[in-house]
Amino acid sequence: MEGYCVKCKGKCEIVNGKPVLMKAKGDKQRNAYKGECAKCKTTVFRILPSKK
Ligand SMILES: [Zn+2]
Repeated sequence: MEGYCVKCKGKCEIVNGKPVLMKAKGDKQRNAYKGECAKCKTTVFRILPSKK
């Protein structure tokens, strides 16, 4: 899975990732994927599009 790393300032490969739920406005929850940048091990989030 690709994500955006703020340290690398670009796309990175997410490793050790797992799906998580993030709280959003209006008591809603968003599907997200949380892991680490493959290069610098910074925590990287990726918001997943909601399924319809
Ligand atoms: Zn990085």
